Parts: sequence; structure tokens; C-alpha cells
Amino acid sequence: MVTFNVRTKNKTVGILICFLLALVFVFMTKYVETHRDMEFGFGGLKLSANSFLGILQAMKGLMCIIMVCIDYKMGRIMAIIFMGGSTVFMFLGIIQRGDMSTLPGIYNAIITIISIVIISNGLAKADKRAVTDFLTGLRNRRGLSTLLVSSINDKKKFHVVYFEIENFRTINDNLGHKYGDVALKAVAEKLKEMENENTVYVGRISGAEFAAVVFEPVDPKEFASKVIDRIGTSITHVDEGFDISIALSVYSGVASYPKDADNADDLFKFSDIAVYNARLGQNKSRICFFDTDMKDRFFRQIEIERIVKESLSQDYFYLVYQPQFEIKSKKLRGFETLIRLKQPDGTMVSPGEFIPVVERSELIMKIDSYVLKRALREAKSMVDLCKDEIMVSINVSAKNISSPGFAEEVKAALEATGYPPECLEIEITEYSFAESKEITIENVTKLRKLGIQIALDDFGTGYTSLSQVMHLPISLLKIDKSLIDDIENNPMNRDFVDAIIYMGHLMKCEVISEGVESDEQLDLLKDHECDFVQGFVWGKPLEYDVALDLCKKEAV
Ligand code: C2E
Ligand code: MG
Ligand code: MG
Repeated sequence: MVTFNVRTKNKTVGILICFLLALVFVFMTKYVETHRDMEFGFGGLKLSANSFLGILQAMKGLMCIIMVCIDYKMGRIMAIIFMGGSTVFMFLGIIQRGDMSTLPGIYNAIITIISIVIISNGLAKADKRAVTDFLTGLRNRRGLSTLLVSSINDKKKFHVVYFEIENFRTINDNLGHKYGDVALKAVAEKLKEMENENTVYVGRISGAEFAAVVFEPVDPKEFASKVIDRIGTSITHVDEGFDISIALSVYSGVASYPKDADNADDLFKFSDIAVYNARLGQNKSRICFFDTDMKDRFFRQIEIERIVKESLSQDYFYLVYQPQFEIKSKKLRGFETLIRLKQPDGTMVSPGEFIPVVERSELIMKIDSYVLKRALREAKSMVDLCKDEIMVSINVSAKNISSPGFAEEVKAALEATGYPPECLEIEITEYSFAESKEITIENVTKLRKLGIQIALDDFGTGYTSLSQVMHLPISLLKIDKSLIDDIENNPMNRDFVDAIIYMGHLMKCEVISEGVESDEQLDLLKDHECDFVQGFVWGKPLEYDVALDLCKKEAV
């Protein structure tokens, strides 16, 4: 805001200086015209009056052009007033005196006026291009930003309503960039129709992100839901005789001036954070209003990403191993590998906090890859001690198991460490089948062929129906802690757990309950024929050396 004012003031001062200098050249011209018989000298150089008049004309023209270059709007007006005025005076001189000596000056002035118009039009076009999005013709981020700055300057209240097209990447990936562009243009068209000269201005920020600046009395929530409804209807594009229909959906986030921020950059950033929250679906709405908690959460997530990146490069991660037991005999079944992050100052960051954050980016691939290699290397000693009679499981994110090439990565890690595949179990969740079902099933099938076991983690928390699970190529069902927690007091949970165990056995799967903390829970699970147990009741996650000791005891 301050820079805006200073810049405008500087421009005005610059133009005034040029204008005054041009006036000085006018007075000098007048003087030389009345002393035509004199010679004018600059150092050793002697000039005739006519030559000097030519230089003064050129200097006037130059001042006008500099005025236009400083600010093509204000500069053009001042330059045309100046040049127009001096042309009129020169013309009047011809009429009054009847001599044509100023005719070259008039000719010069007309050329200068034409140059001023050409240059200022060129600058106006360049200026428009700088604030216009090339693909859609809407304002770009800079264009909207200029609008925000001047509205803040005028102390007008407004809202920045940000829009993000959901899964736009899949449109580009599946249909190609040509149709991606068609979709963006169609969205821009629909937004443009909703623009209103005084209250609603729209623009494209980048990629599949658009924004509107909405002034009172327009209600931002109503406006956002109108946009969501309009863009939500599918777009039909006719191409080479075919009708191509593209279905789009949009999330929206709102940040308001002056409530949330007092500058354009923060307003954009905060409305973007609000969209991000809408995308997470925590408040079950496609529209989200920015608040300070959101900001704190957002900055914590950025901090977590930074810590994770640093920890990967500096190797602050390590693995712990939580034992799993046969429920009837208390014999060791194996271990679940769990990642831990300890910063150099001793602060622990829980995987419950950092895994969901990194799962939204490609960082999770690096974590999974790290865990796979390190777990196989460390667990090799455990399975050697137990003569290949234990199972070590690792958690694999939905993103990874649904990526082509994952099974090959596991195969390569097994070969590199010499770890026996039948002692490896991979834990995946139901979301893995939601993301990209075909690739997940392909990976899981390849892994099963290698002899690796597949566990379905956190079962009972997702939305997969029991009938769907029946057809998944898994070997172990892990009943989630949330169902076990209240099993002593909640008959419905008890029945549900009973049904899961029964169904697991029907599928020829084994069943493990995780998060078992009490003897009562243990007894109930035993009664319900659950096969294995994992939980604090019989074993917390152990450091590698301690887990190795447990294996030694088991081997005796
Ligand atoms: P999960 O895979 O369901 O792991 C079980 C979590 O429950 C672990 O928490 C474990 O320490 C905890 N737990 C086990 N028994 C009990 C109990 O009796 N009481 C209580 N209160 N908690 C118990 P942790 O280690 O904090 O991990 C949380 C989640 O983070 C894991 O849930 C998993 O989704 C993820 N995670 C952990 N390690 C990895 C990893 O190496 N890779 C990936 N992709 N995710 C991981
Ligand atoms: Mg797990
Ligand atoms: Mg679990």
C-alpha cells in the first residue's frame, strides 16, 4: 500500500519535472526565434540559430516521450496537452506574422504527437497483457492483486473467494492437455458470466485455481455456492463430430478484508489455505471460511514437511517393532514395524501427526521406501534368529500400493537383503482400493505371488462393505483399535468384532486385533476366536535391540 502511494507520487513528480523542462525549452525557443542572427556556442562548438532551434524542438519531443514512458496514462495527457498547445501557438504565430519559419516546428510536433499515441497504445497493450491470463482472457493473479491493492487503499471491505477444481490432474492425464484447456476455458466462461462491474471481479490464479474478489452487498457464501453449482454441471465439448463431456467439481475458500488480513498476498494465501481445508472435508462442506486455527494448522503442516525432509536427509528416523502374539498360546507371531522421528533436540514427532501430512505429497513415497529398506535389513537378523518362523509387517501408504512399480520395488529390496518373502507382511488400508483399485489389485497379486502376506489395517474404520472385502486378495484382517476400545461395555462393537472375525475366517484370512490394552478385552477376543493380538496388554513397540532380544528368547 505504502509502496503503491510512493510509486504514484514519484511518477507524478517525474512527469512534472519533464513538463517543466519542456516549458523551459519553449522559452528558449522563443528567445532563439527572436535572435535568429546570433550564433550559439557549446564549448568550442558554434551553432546557427536554426540548428539550435532544431535541437530545442527535439528536446521538447524527448521530454514528452519520457512523460509517456513514466506513466502512459497521465504522461500521455500531459504530453498531448503540451505538444497540442505548442502546435496551436506556432500556428497562431504563422497567422499573425505571416512568416512560415515555424512550419518545421509544427511538422515536428505532429510527428511527436503521433509517436506519443503509438508508444502509449503499445504500453497500454503490454500492461493489459501483464494482468491478463493468456489462456482464458481473465485477469491473472497480478490483475486481481492490483484490484485488491487499490481496494485496500480505498478502505473498501471485500472477500477473496478462491476456487480449485477437484482432481484436475486426472482430466489432463486421462483426456490430455487439450481437453484440460477446454475445461479451464469453460470454467472461465462461466465465471465471467457471473462478473458484475461493481461487486464481482473474477480471475485465474494458476493451473486449475481461480479466484473472485467480491464486494458488499454480495454474500461470499452464496456466491461461492452458485459458482460450485454452475461449474458442477458437466461441460460438453464437440470435437470432430464427437460430444465430449467433462464433469468438474470445485472447492472454495474465503478470506476477508480487513477481518483476516490487510494485504493482497496474505488474502490470497489465506483463501488458498481455506480451500485446502475444504478439500480435506473436515467440515463436510465444499466452502470453507478462513480462521486463525486453520492458519496455525497450516503452518504446523509446513513445519512438519520441513522436519520430515530434513529427517530423511539427516537420518533422524528409526524403526520400532511392536510384537504380535498368538492369542491362545501367547507365542510370538512377529512384529509390526512402526516409524519414529526423533529430532536432534530430543523432540519426538508422532507418525500419527506426520504420516497424514506427508501422505498428501510425494514425500510419503520416500518414507515408505526408507522403511522398506531399513526394515528388511534390520528384520533379517530377527527372522534368522527365529529360523524364518516369524512375520514382520510394514505399513504401506495408499499412494504407494496404488502406484505402478511398487511390487517390483519390494522384489528388488528383498533380493538386495536376502530377506525371505514369506516372512514379510505388507499392511495396507481400505483407502488403497479406493484410490486406484486396478493397480492396487495388480500390485497385491504380484506381491502374493512372491509369497508376501497382505494385511488389511485399521479394518472397521473405512467404508468398504464386508462383501467387497471378501474379494480382496488379503491374508490378514487387522481389527482397528477403535472397535476394541469399548468392547467390554459396548455390545454392538462386540457383535461387530464377532462378525469381522467370523467373516475373516470365511475368507480364509487370519484375524488380529490391535490396540488391545486390558485382560478383559483379551478374554473377550479369545472367546470370539480371534487368532492374534497386538497391543500394550502384551507388548508396546520395542527398540530394535530389545525386539532382537525377544527373538533370541523365543528361539531358545
Ligand atoms: P497403525 O498401522 O494402525 O499402527 C498402530 C498404532 O497403534 C501405532 O501407533 C501403535 O503404536 C499404536 N498402538 C498399538 N497398540 C496400542 C495400544 O494398545 N494402545 C494404544 N494407545 N496404541 C497402540 P503409531 O506408531 O503412533 O502409528 C500410528 C500410525 O502411523 C500407524 O497406525 C500407521 O498408520 C502410521 N505409521 C506408523 N509407522 C508407519 C510407517 O512406517 N509407514 C507408514 N506408511 N505409516 C506408518
Ligand atoms: Mg499398521
Ligand atoms: Mg492399524
